[in-house]
Amino acid sequence: MPNNPAEGLTDIFWEQAQESILVRPVCGSCDKSFFSPQVLCPNCQSDTWEYQKSSGEGTIYSYTVVHRPPDDSFPNPLIIADIELDEGWRMFSWIVKCDPNEFDIGSKVKAHFQNFAGTMLPVFTLSKGDQ
Ligand SMILES: [Zn+2]
Repeated sequence: MPNNPAEGLTDIFWEQAQESILVRPVCGSCDKSFFSPQVLCPNCQSDTWEYQKSSGEGTIYSYTVVHRPPDDSFPNPLIIADIELDEGWRMFSWIVKCDPNEFDIGSKVKAHFQNFAGTMLPVFTLSKGDQ
């Protein structure tokens, strides 16, 4: 087996997700958050990053609505969004428990975890203004 430096990069992310905890890589050299996990920090190429817990709070950077999901196990409509977390990193996820007419780019969202096919996935719901 070749020695693959990327092997196991996402293990901690998924272990934490199963406990409903959202984490992201934070660089020990430049202090930037990034995603997805990579061998080297995409900002400064340091390999000294570590996972830290995220607030899970962010805004919708972009999204698309899929009206015919791959199969019945998916939410319908399936809202796939590029979420910008408050710590300055972005991830693709789903927006759940809302109608596509209830939000727009820039709407505030909060991470939750949802069991999908036996794996806890980070998904997002709209943040309510009174929180
Ligand atoms: Zn860095």
